[in-house]
Amino acid sequence: MTDQNTPRRTARSRALVERSRTVIPGGAQTGLRAQAFYPTEIAFESAKDATLTSVDGEQYTDYHLGFGPIILGHRHEAVDAAARAAIDDGVLFGAATSPLEVEVAERIVELLPSVEQVNFCNSGSEATYHAIRLARAYTGNEKILKFEGCYHGWHDYVDISVYPPEEHVGERYPESDGMLEAAVDNTLVVPFNDPDALREVMVEHGDDLAGVILEPVPHSVGSLLPTEAFLDALEAETDAHDVPLIFDEVITGFRHSPHGAQGEFDVDPDLTCVAKALGNGYPVAAVGGKKKLMSQAGGDNTSGVIISGTYSGNFLGLAAARETLRIIEDDGVQDHVTDLGESYRAGLSDLLEDHGHEGRVVGHRSIFSVQFGVTGEPRQYTDIVGLDQEKFRAYAKGMRERNHFFTPNPFKRHHLSFAHTDDDRTQYLDDADEVLSDL
Ligand code: PLP
Repeated sequence: MTDQNTPRRTARSRALVERSRTVIPGGAQTGLRAQAFYPTEIAFESAKDATLTSVDGEQYTDYHLGFGPIILGHRHEAVDAAARAAIDDGVLFGAATSPLEVEVAERIVELLPSVEQVNFCNSGSEATYHAIRLARAYTGNEKILKFEGCYHGWHDYVDISVYPPEEHVGERYPESDGMLEAAVDNTLVVPFNDPDALREVMVEHGDDLAGVILEPVPHSVGSLLPTEAFLDALEAETDAHDVPLIFDEVITGFRHSPHGAQGEFDVDPDLTCVAKALGNGYPVAAVGGKKKLMSQAGGDNTSGVIISGTYSGNFLGLAAARETLRIIEDDGVQDHVTDLGESYRAGLSDLLEDHGHEGRVVGHRSIFSVQFGVTGEPRQYTDIVGLDQEKFRAYAKGMRERNHFFTPNPFKRHHLSFAHTDDDRTQYLDDADEVLSDL
């Protein structure tokens, strides 16, 4: 760790960012990365366990973990060895099936209680896209229902009302320019955790809905825990109208429990999307669900849904997934990250109180967020929209100067991995104590 009074070295990072801006729009691979991390201007070149090393040789404890996939720690030896072995056998056949593909599909079916069949793809957005197409084909309907504050990827069907500015809360708010109006018009949005609003929209649209999609714990806005009443209403309403219930477990799946949020909250969705922690950072994702929906993608004469992708089921991702799932199930990963998560949350809450900052610490298991200027348990997007963004950015800057790295985006979250330790927590809380006293 560098002494916090020594300025972090960033000269090489800054030079690289400069070059990057010439050839990459915004100077980062996604707008969100650009928006979240500039003017941070740190470029990283390597990672191991819970540590990121910048091109300037500075080391940071990583709470970003690539937006969440790294559940076991960076460069986990067994996962990387599995991926290397896959490379030695050839990474892509694109023909019929293979033992690895069948094995990982069987594993997911065993682990996720609602899932009977699985199709692989490479990203969470692909998985939610496929799920919605399956649901539309099954019902013959076009409209889907999502919840304010839930993110399901970048495509036109769902990139709506994730982070609406305060003046657009309660409206259908497209997050990007260039979206197809018909897609936006066919996506209905209601508040999360509001059974009455859900019932109301189901009265009007229940019979012309193709699907209801949600993050069971919306971590895209920190952490909103679902109420039992809301989950009951979701199941009852989707059953009553025979509308597929789609669980987007891209964050929750395999990070919080080997059995997903569906196992944790005892809900039986029709379709499930997983990605991120499935492969500990390797690009692998899946859509799975009930046979009645999934079999539509069977490619025989009785079915008509196309699920396609040249790289779907590539062996690098699948080998990483097989090994990650094995470790997650056997090695007490979730107990470790959950216990750590609880101790970070408790320590931080005490610090907020000690320093008299209005705010709260939210989260679930290995995920936590500090939200300034808002109090009480958040249940829906309106409970977080007014948070103090500037103060969070100042906190993130102070922590970054002390070598703790997480996104300065105030709506996002910290992640923990199996590689984080009690010492990391002690250091984080000691440094947070200083930063919070300066804020
Ligand atoms: N669904 C959720 C809940 C996510 O958090 C994300 C990404 O952050 C996605 C879907 C989209 O996944 P990807 O970025 O892999 O396309």
